[in-house]
Amino acid sequence: MHLSAPHTADLRQPIAWDECACLLCGGARHTPILEAVDSLGEMRFLIVRCERCGLAFTNPRPDRDSIDRFYPDDYACHRIERQPLAKRDGSVALPKHGLARLLDFGCGSGAFLARMNAQGWNVVGLDRSENAVKRVREHFGLTAHVGSLPSPYWTSNCFEAVTMWQSLEHVHDPLGVLRAAYRLLTPGGRLLVAVPNVDGWAARWFGAHWYGLDLPRHLTHFTPTTLHLMLTLAGFARIDMRQERKSSWIRHSAGMTPPGDWMARAMRTRFGSGLAGWAALAFNAAESIFAVATK
Ligand SMILES: [Zn+2]
Repeated sequence: MHLSAPHTADLRQPIAWDECACLLCGGARHTPILEAVDSLGEMRFLIVRCERCGLAFTNPRPDRDSIDRFYPDDYACHRIERQPLAKRDGSVALPKHGLARLLDFGCGSGAFLARMNAQGWNVVGLDRSENAVKRVREHFGLTAHVGSLPSPYWTSNCFEAVTMWQSLEHVHDPLGVLRAAYRLLTPGGRLLVAVPNVDGWAARWFGAHWYGLDLPRHLTHFTPTTLHLMLTLAGFARIDMRQERKSSWIRHSAGMTPPGDWMARAMRTRFGSGLAGWAALAFNAAESIFAVATK
């Protein structure tokens, strides 16, 4: 695995590297599947797949302290893709006018929290970014805390819903986060998770240029199978899976692909990326996975 040692150009602070065992089954044997550069083009990262359970993860990865270097101050408010999915599926998977408690894990700038709050939910946000939490408090006047799961702020059985919109793939211990979410939910409570689908058509087509890789911020690269497995291991008995179209991810990916490829050129347009997105969804190979897991 030492082949993968990333370049260390332009270090503002030293990075501590963490070479890890499988985040799902603990297996030590894995195979490299993809090497790609980060969004700034500074460093190369390796994605490996566990030989036992099939989970794909970034390895080695910056450790919990070093990863901050890869989140610019304005990162949270630039998460353009956080909201549309929640808008569509939140109303299906959660009662529209909830009078219950909801925790948004990785709440970013808080737009989803604000919308659910307006629908009557008693909401609270959790995010690792101090800036994001400050914005949620000041801009929306809502409760939010800096941190991750498990968290000292709550005991068990205190939320009817926990949401994770494109945030689980960012954490160092996704199984630990899911187990903590399970404990926080009341019996019958629901966890809603959306993550990029590394098994989707766009991930396969664009490879190292796929927008959903977002290295090195994305530490786990889920497929429908590995997300289902991890939710099961976390304790959830009933898990409903579906997929979500993200045409803008296809457009971004096409934009990052070197010029000369006519297919990529076509997919830089709204029409082309829209068509590709619908086709991928029709073949159950869309860009994002969405799971509703009931305790
Ligand atoms: Zn494994």
